[in-house]
Amino acid sequence: MAGKLVVISGPSGVGKSSIAREVLAQCDAQFSVSATTRTPRAGERNKQDYRFVDRREFQRMIDAGELLEWANVFGEMYGTPAEPVLEAMRQGRCVLMDIDVQGGRQVYRKLPNATFILIVPPNDEVLARRLRGRNSEAKEQFEQRLAKAKAEIEDAQRTGAYKHVVVNDDLETADRRVVEIITEP
Ligand code: 5GP
Repeated sequence: MAGKLVVISGPSGVGKSSIAREVLAQCDAQFSVSATTRTPRAGERNKQDYRFVDRREFQRMIDAGELLEWANVFGEMYGTPAEPVLEAMRQGRCVLMDIDVQGGRQVYRKLPNATFILIVPPNDEVLARRLRGRNSEAKEQFEQRLAKAKAEIEDAQRTGAYKHVVVNDDLETADRRVVEIITEP
C-alpha cells in the first residue's frame, strides 16, 4: 500500500469520516487536508481537518492550478491541494482522500490507478435516519442532503471509478473491509 492513493466517497451521514479515521489509525496513511470555504464546525482544527479559506483564496488556488480537484458542495467550495498528495506519493506514503463523487471523478481522470471506495448505507431508511440524527440540520437542509446522498450513490455507480462498494451496516465490519481493500497488494 506504499504510495497508494485511496479515495473514499459516499453520502454524508454514511459514516465515511469515522471509517477514514479508523483507516488512518490502522494503516500508516496520510490524510489529505482539503481546502474549503465553509465555516469550521465546533472542534474542527484549521489545517488538520480542513484548510479554511475565503472565496478569494479558493479562487486563487484554482487559478494557480494548485488543486488536484475541486467541487461545489451545498454552495461551498471544497478542493484537494495537489502538492501534498503528490509529495506523499513520491515518498511512497499511502494517502487518503475523503472527497465527494464529483471530486472522485476528477481524480479518476488524472490518476486512474488510485483505489476508489464508495461507502453506502444498507438502505434509504437507514440513510434518512442517520441524516436526521444529525439534529444540527434544519429540515430544508436535511431534504437537500438526502436528495444529494441518493444522487451521489447513483452518480458514483455511473462513473466506473468506484470498483469497491462497502455497505456500512455495521461500522466495525465496514472498517475492516476498507482496511482489507487498502492493504490488498
Ligand atoms: P463536510 O462539509 O460535511 O465536511 O463535507 C461535505 C462533503 O464534501 C463530503 O461529502 C466530503 O467528502 C466532501 N469533501 C470534503 N473535502 C473535499 C474536497 O477536497 N473535494 C471534494 N470534491 N469534496 C470534498
